[in-house]
Amino acid sequence: MEVIPGIYQLKLPLPIIPLGDISLGQVLGQINVYLIEGNAGWLLVDTGWDAPKVLEAFKKGLKTIGITFKDISEIVITHVHLDHFGLAGKLKKLSGANLGLHRMERRFIEPGGLKGEQVLKKIKEWLYKNGSPKDEGLVLQKVLQGPMKFITPMFPDALFFFGEIGFPDIFFSGGESISTGIFNFEVIWTPGHSSGHICLYEQAKKVLISGDHILSQITPVIALNPFSRSNPLGDYIGSLNNLKRLDVELVLPGHGDYFVHFQRRIDELIQHHEERKRIILELVKEGPKVAYEMASEIPWMPEKGGVSLDKLDPCSHRMALMETLAHLKILEEEGNVKRIYKANLDFYCSTAGKNVGYYSL
Ligand SMILES: [Zn+2]
Repeated sequence: MEVIPGIYQLKLPLPIIPLGDISLGQVLGQINVYLIEGNAGWLLVDTGWDAPKVLEAFKKGLKTIGITFKDISEIVITHVHLDHFGLAGKLKKLSGANLGLHRMERRFIEPGGLKGEQVLKKIKEWLYKNGSPKDEGLVLQKVLQGPMKFITPMFPDALFFFGEIGFPDIFFSGGESISTGIFNFEVIWTPGHSSGHICLYEQAKKVLISGDHILSQITPVIALNPFSRSNPLGDYIGSLNNLKRLDVELVLPGHGDYFVHFQRRIDELIQHHEERKRIILELVKEGPKVAYEMASEIPWMPEKGGVSLDKLDPCSHRMALMETLAHLKILEEEGNVKRIYKANLDFYCSTAGKNVGYYSL
């Protein structure tokens, strides 16, 4: 689909729908990648999951536009989650294009970087420290003992990668410009959903390619885990506020439909996290709790009117836990919550009212 003259959106299938939710399947069951016309070559933003049917869909899209792999001269990845980065290695080979992503994503893909087994061990210890039941162990551990090349800490038992890593030619820091001769994009570092997440802004056309930073139908997952930055929700809110200065008339997101209500959507996303912080603070005020206990009391998927944790699959339990912890971390930074390590568990207490100085756990 040509969203504006010279920018094409390809909707590619996603073999795994992380939330396993049917009504959200339309949004999460697909990923959008963007092909942008240039004078000397095309720019591709994000690649899709590494699976034969995705590559087939990609080829079909190229044919509809009337170009081939060789016409792509540059590939830019908004973040290294596998729905965005998975095909990067194959597409780089097929096109001969340069590949670029943010330097903060480097450690996830560099040979000799994180090893699958180490990641699993760390994540497991960390899950238990935050009160996850022992029977929620990592189900695919046997598979993961193989020589995997990449693992997503957010879904350690579901999203792993044995395919061909596309090693970048360029590492961005933010502030660079990417020109196709027809379009000029500014790289904007927007940490939160991923440490090295970037958005691409075309000032003259007032277009923002937002990756998973701003989606119209769902709120992106913001997760604290042993491999995230220390305060991902603080990063995320900061990144949203930073984008407010931009004049944007069209947002091209990584999932779901493109949209125009840029400023309003930013406000809604900030509001969503404020509301969740308020709920968590209320829970903490009831007395010291571990994060898993709080995750069990929070209504998830507000888009669906709120779903309890026990209705979600085990993979989503972990995501809910990481989201809860991201909110607890920002509350801790703001001085409203205190973390106390006791009996191999992390407990959270309110710093206000009757729980002040509550150390008698
Ligand atoms: Zn995504």
